[in-house]
Amino acid sequence: MPDSLKELIRVMSFLPGIGEKTATKLAYFLLQANKNYVDNFSNSLQDLHDKIDICPVCGSFVNTGEWICRICAHPNRKKNLICVVEEYLDLVAIENLGIFDGVYHVLWGTLSPIQGIFASDLNFETLFSRIADGQDMELIIATNPNIQWEAAFAYIVQQLESRWLRHFLTISRPSRWLSSGYLEYADNMTLIHALRDRKIV
Ligand SMILES: [Zn+2]
Repeated sequence: MPDSLKELIRVMSFLPGIGEKTATKLAYFLLQANKNYVDNFSNSLQDLHDKIDICPVCGSFVNTGEWICRICAHPNRKKNLICVVEEYLDLVAIENLGIFDGVYHVLWGTLSPIQGIFASDLNFETLFSRIADGQDMELIIATNPNIQWEAAFAYIVQQLESRWLRHFLTISRPSRWLSSGYLEYADNMTLIHALRDRKIV
């Protein structure tokens, strides 16, 4: 097998849900595909890192050259209603429902000291700055309902109290959140009810 085909199979095997067998099929497909298609494919991959930045306000993605993301910049979005999610795909899942008119804060991971992921590794500090700047805020903690949620919630409350910010905002969590699994896999009706019937904690 030629070295470049072997290398493509090797790197594709790292993709989630793709084993060596599927990687081999895909690499062989690309080898035989139209050259224009392969060039476009290759450019799209390159653009992922060259043309995407992080929004300095919420931690979501932004096109390189844009100051902040389109959600943060939108005039009709309630800036005092912040939905805290673990990952960008959680934001996408909620955004696709079309019912949320607040803004987001992406933590970029799950707080899990047991696995060596501490608060300083995640996007918490900008969240606290946003809270300090706002008035009558509501923070929806929409992380997955598990022990890490409790850890993230406890950390946020503890930090807000030590910064004298706790009394300036309401903290809520979605009701009827999935008892297991990930937010991104929940069906739309579950998510809509969970967000609308959120509980103050
Ligand atoms: Zn943003």
